[in-house]
Formats: sequence, C-alpha cells, structure tokens
Amino acid sequence: MEKYTVIVLAAGQGKRMKTGRNKQFIELLHKPLIIHTLEKFVRDNWCEQIYLVINPADQQVMMELISSYRWRGQIQFVHGGKERQESGYKGLLAVEPAHQEKVVMIHDGARPFVEEQHLHHLAVAARAKGAALLAVPVTDTIKRKNGDQLDTLDRSILWAAQTPQAFDYQLIKRAHEHAASEQILGTDDVSLVELLGAPVEIVQGSYQNVKLTTPEDILRAEMILNSQG
Ligand code: C5P
Repeated sequence: MEKYTVIVLAAGQGKRMKTGRNKQFIELLHKPLIIHTLEKFVRDNWCEQIYLVINPADQQVMMELISSYRWRGQIQFVHGGKERQESGYKGLLAVEPAHQEKVVMIHDGARPFVEEQHLHHLAVAARAKGAALLAVPVTDTIKRKNGDQLDTLDRSILWAAQTPQAFDYQLIKRAHEHAASEQILGTDDVSLVELLGAPVEIVQGSYQNVKLTTPEDILRAEMILNSQG
C-alpha cells in the first residue's frame, strides 16, 4: 500500500459552465459534483489526507456541505488563488510536514470519475519515478495550424493529460517555485516538472475520467454515472 495525500482543486469560477456559480455545486443525479469527486478519495484507504482548495466566497456553503457528509475530520480547507497554478501551490504550502513524506496528488475537483485502481497505480508510479500522471492515448487525428498550412502530428506518441497527477512533495514544490520565478503559467502541474527536466511516468487511465467544463459535459457525466449503476 502506497499512502498518499491529495490536493483537490475547487477554487475556480467555472465560467465556461455558464451556471453563474461555482460548477463544483452542480448536481449530478442529485449530488453535487464536488461530492462525487471527494467520495473517490474518502473511500480509498490509501488516501491519508484531503486538502480541498476553495474560493473564500464559497467557504460557508462548502463547509456546510462537507459537514452534512460527516467528512470534516478527513478534509482540510485551503483558500485558493486567481489561477489554477496558484491554487495548487497554496494547496502544497498547506500540506503538513507529516504528510510531506508521502506521495502528493493534485486533482481537479471537476473530474469526478477517477477510478481507485488508477489512483493506486499512480501512487506507486510517483513513488518510483518522482512524478506521474494519468493520461489516455489520443484518439483523434491532431492537426497543427500555421497560417494556411496544416500538418498532422504523429498520433502514436500523443497522450491526453488528465488528473490526478502525483509527485514527490519536494519535487513538485520546487517545480512550482521555479515556474513562478520564471513567470511561467502551465496548464497542468506535470508541465512544471517537465521544465525542470525531471522524468515523469505516464499511467494509462480511462476515457471516462473527463473534466466537466461546458454545459454539454453535464449530460455526458450523468450518462457515465447511470452506466456505473
Ligand atoms: O477551469 P478548469 O476546469 O480547467 O479548472 C480545473 C480545476 O482547477 C477546477 O476543479 C477548478 O475549480 C480548479 N481551479 C482552482 N483555482 C483556480 C482556477 C481553477 O482551484 N483559480
């Protein structure tokens, strides 16, 4: 068993979802999105601690919600920042020394379908390699546009990155600090480790581990939930 800590990022505004409030509260089959996500970690006995990164404006509602599930003891709240990267870094700074020895995962609160077997593969891979992420082979043909010219990338070496992404604590903290000092804003955490030239393991995940971004994703998410029974 490879114990880990997870930082769940839920401090975004979810503007592309167009609901006028944080998308983490959207109900999927009568349960808020963030609860579906947190359940995956609350139920996994490899997971020792959960840091939930929130927008201070959501604190009251989020605390009441978490209390209603009786999870207050397992979840610590952290205030996030303006950008996803800043929220991740604030989460890292909140990790207590006792948990810094463990693998630390960073996960999007808006990805409720991660599977326990993949969490376990990821924890083991991160311990061995220093950094690992869930990803799936790209199925579409990917074009790169340069003016009127297109070219077609070699699909056999392309992966679509997901979360969780898992790390040695000191490595990911150093990667964030390096990116901040260079004023680089990455779209995920692994990209910051790549900048250090450190190795990263890919753990093949599932195509169902989608991130809910636009209103169309809600329908798809409910179909996935129904298919999982
Ligand atoms: O916007 P997007 O869906 O790509 O964000 C991915 C995750 O990062 C979401 O769960 C969102 O709540 C979180 N996030 C955050 N702090 C921000 C922006 C996004 O915690 N400033």
